[in-house]
Amino acid sequence: MDSAELDKRHVWHPFTQMREWNAGEPLVIVEAEGAVLRDAQGFEYLDGNSSIWTNLHGHRRAEIDGAIREQLGRVAHTSFLGLTNDVAPQFAFELLRAITRSDTPEGWRVFFSDDGSTAVEAGLKMIHQARQQRGEKERRVFVSLGAGYHGDTVGAMSVGHSTVFHSAYRGLMFGSREVMSPACYRCPFNRAAPERGMDARLSRKCEWECVGAAAKALDDLGDAASAFVMEPRVQGAAGMTMHAHGYLSRIAALCRERGVWLMLDEVMTGFGRTGAMFACQHEGVMPDVLALGKGITGGYLPLAATVASAEIFAAFDGEHSEWRTFFHGHSYSGNQLGCAAALASLRLLGTVHPMAHVRSRGEFLRVLAQKFWEHPNVGDVRCEGMICAIEIVEDFVTRRRFPAENRTGFRVSEAARKHWLITRCVGDVLVLMPPYCVSEEQLAQAVDGLWRALCGVVPAK
Ligand SMILES: *Cc1c(COP(=O)(O)O)cnc(C)c1O
Repeated sequence: MDSAELDKRHVWHPFTQMREWNAGEPLVIVEAEGAVLRDAQGFEYLDGNSSIWTNLHGHRRAEIDGAIREQLGRVAHTSFLGLTNDVAPQFAFELLRAITRSDTPEGWRVFFSDDGSTAVEAGLKMIHQARQQRGEKERRVFVSLGAGYHGDTVGAMSVGHSTVFHSAYRGLMFGSREVMSPACYRCPFNRAAPERGMDARLSRKCEWECVGAAAKALDDLGDAASAFVMEPRVQGAAGMTMHAHGYLSRIAALCRERGVWLMLDEVMTGFGRTGAMFACQHEGVMPDVLALGKGITGGYLPLAATVASAEIFAAFDGEHSEWRTFFHGHSYSGNQLGCAAALASLRLLGTVHPMAHVRSRGEFLRVLAQKFWEHPNVGDVRCEGMICAIEIVEDFVTRRRFPAENRTGFRVSEAARKHWLITRCVGDVLVLMPPYCVSEEQLAQAVDGLWRALCGVVPAK
């Protein structure tokens, strides 16, 4: 039986209504190279969302393939419990050098797990336990951004604020204090400059009301606030919403003044996606905890890391009998194949795809994407580094959304496949974020394909 048939009979797909899936014909990817995916029938598609935001350098990149093969020639995986290996510590050091931009990243620690959710989960547990062991038992509340998404484990869901994803599991979640997302496009204070058409008098000067709201929440909580958790600069699953530059550094200052830790989720934004190695580096912010995943292996293997500050690590120091140990770990912690891929990927970020390259490709995409403004139902075109998001709306003046049941964004993404583009929308936000190896020609094809798909589903009149 072929894979498509077996899939329909036996497989359960993530975030998928399986009745609908089983009524369709699945696209079976059999190989890929660079930014191009090939299906079982030999058709080729541009990997327009970097295989759900994971791939950085393209598929079958010789350096990463080679590093994995070389590692496979020695050993694929051994336990990180009670043992170490000759790859994970090397990667930890190189990772910390990249994060701290210092050759002596003393004090920082890297805790390995398997995916973004577990990186976040470990971070939350570290913070919670550190607070107790420091005698700060009242500091129990996590503060996090509206529409934030940090993964699907119960802890990660608890600091997330996505109604659609989380409502069925509310009974399991511990809850967190939500503060407004600083996404400018739907600024409730209407402070963001109108992009087009709207009466300029309706939009007032931004006075960082969003920062004020966060300060108020932190002040209300007082000594109950443990940590502020957020995706810096770009909130992925919220709809690639983008923050005003300067929000992050202001939040970091608020946290520092109040003794609240800052945990940044750079699972999506890390490793150059926003045009800096880490999004927090755009604003000179060093978090207390940093969660990394997705692009960490260049999109090859499931590996994730939770990076902790010296202060947090110190809270676990003690004799065995004091039971201050971090009681958390995973079977594949420190996996050698993953770490070998991650080391190779990190090197490529210093050589083949340095930040200047990512920024210039991103700028090329940003300029091309201005075309979308010509469509009357495009409400916003926003870009950061190699992320471009096109938000489609029923009415661009009022920013009214299409009815959710129309699934307009979904239909556009599906239609894009006929134009040799694979991407996945977030609600009615269309996403273009290919691997960094994408050529200018491929970017032009992607924009053209998405434009045609959009006009096919929502005629431009
Ligand atoms: C994808 C994502 C996660 C979850 O990562 P998984 O690897 O899917 O568990 C967490 N945070 C952010 C910001 C993400 O984009």
